[in-house]
Amino acid sequence: MASITSTTSLAGTATNAADSPGQDAPGRLGGHLAGLVASAGKHGSATIRSPFDDAVVGRLPLSSDEDVEQAFRSARAAQRDWAARPLAERVAVFRRFAELVIDERSALLDVIQHETGKARLSAFEEVADVSRWASHAAHAGPGYLRERRRPGVFPVLTRTHERFVPRGVIGTITPWNYPFTLPAGDAVPALLAGNAVVLKPDSQTPHTALFALELLRRAGLPADLMQIVLGPGSRIGPAMIERADFMMFTGSTATGKTVAEGCASQLIGFSAELGGKNPMLVLADADVQRAAAGAVNACFSNSGQLCISIERIYVHGDVWDAFVPAFLERVRAMRLAPGLGWDADMGSLIGPDQLEKVSDHIRDAVDHGAKVLAGGNARPELGPYFHEPTVLADVRRGMAVAREETFGPVVSLYPVDSDEEAIAAANDTEYGLNASVWSRGRGAAVARRLQAGTVNINEGYAAAWASHASPMGGMKASGMGRRHGAEGFQKFTEPQTIAAQRLLPVGGPPGMGHERWSQALSAGVRILNRFS
Ligand code: NAP
Repeated sequence: MASITSTTSLAGTATNAADSPGQDAPGRLGGHLAGLVASAGKHGSATIRSPFDDAVVGRLPLSSDEDVEQAFRSARAAQRDWAARPLAERVAVFRRFAELVIDERSALLDVIQHETGKARLSAFEEVADVSRWASHAAHAGPGYLRERRRPGVFPVLTRTHERFVPRGVIGTITPWNYPFTLPAGDAVPALLAGNAVVLKPDSQTPHTALFALELLRRAGLPADLMQIVLGPGSRIGPAMIERADFMMFTGSTATGKTVAEGCASQLIGFSAELGGKNPMLVLADADVQRAAAGAVNACFSNSGQLCISIERIYVHGDVWDAFVPAFLERVRAMRLAPGLGWDADMGSLIGPDQLEKVSDHIRDAVDHGAKVLAGGNARPELGPYFHEPTVLADVRRGMAVAREETFGPVVSLYPVDSDEEAIAAANDTEYGLNASVWSRGRGAAVARRLQAGTVNINEGYAAAWASHASPMGGMKASGMGRRHGAEGFQKFTEPQTIAAQRLLPVGGPPGMGHERWSQALSAGVRILNRFS
């Protein structure tokens, strides 16, 4: 199996020159992305380490409050010219970006893997997703943002248009788990709609976001239009909220609430994509072998560190005895490995906090009577934060793993006796992000009764996520607003209505008394009510 020391390249930068965590080493990714950070270099630097082996990936300058201020000022100045450009010119940037992402996939995969420790296939999902999303934006974005004629107050006499005005500068905060998909995926529609973006990526994965910015600039994005600031969210977040015209946040529900409070006090809009505790329902008429294979991907892709991954599986009693062994056999066969090769099914967790949470959830469940059917252990011989894919049974309500998002490779199996029971159990959570239903005939009917922003039938998560023309996001505590689809673009704009009145004023013709006008208008209202 591939090892961590395999050769890698980053857009022509010499790498692997400094795998050791020595103080002055530039790090595994070299230093050329550091120049893209919005920082005057006076606020210290951060050292980023690889979850694969704790080696230094790179060192990057941090941004001070003054740097954040300067980033917003530069972005705001660049936005005026960008918004004035014809839409077709803006669209061309994202068409080129979609191609560049595929051209540079090998270097991108290396950077994503070094920063996250994920398997190469999981990293490739990000690359393919961003390319498809940018291409969708280029094709469909102009339609989503098109100025529309709307019926006016009086037919013929009122000519009404609705248009989408860019908000200005969009503040974007993203987590570490999809360090390319989320920063690039949020920037594309915001920029295409005519805004500037100031992005704060997670402190653990900044190189990937900087690489996205480099590719956007190579695709033709004006130099100052998108800025990346680095530093802890607790400091940079409030500094951004103070200056942004709209906030796009992806991360935990707890931090999402803090961001929401900040936005409320500034009276700015925000959109938030938050946590989940996503259920899968295997109905009595499911194709069990397909469901078992699909569940492996749905639960353990990206080591389960995926907001839409499955953490609870409700299996109908009629298929329990067929599903469970088929699922466990596949889970036990999963290959865990560090490094940049293609043969690992699962990579590392992101770091010590995540490993601790996973271990705590399993320990708490076992202490209270749950059974480990597969996995259950950390694998330090592979890397400091590796953990086996783990399947639990006999999980009960009071256990942490039953209610809280684990955000790791742990899934619990629950037997159910009916569709009704499965639906009620699936909806019994504060979250409502994603759900999955496996059935030969009743998937669509059951899907409509699930409280989740996306529901996949005979798939775990990818079918709904990658249907980019349709909205994606959370119900209940899983979020506010949506990404993808028309809303994924229009939220980055202020709708403006322009209505031009001719011939007859809405308040009535000059000289006509109030009473006569009200009588005429009443007759008019009766006629109009028949049609609209
Ligand atoms: P997190 O702790 O909320 O961090 C996410 C981002 O918020 C990071 O960039 C973090 O910066 C920043 N941050 C921290 N404190 C902040 C504050 N007070 N104000 C503003 N920003 C602040 O989330 P996480 O644990 O890293 O990420 C995993 C969570 O994200 C899971 O709950 C997962 O379900 C969710 N998620 C949701 C989606 C979705 O589409 N619904 C997608 C991916 C992930 P620093 O870490 O650099 O300090």
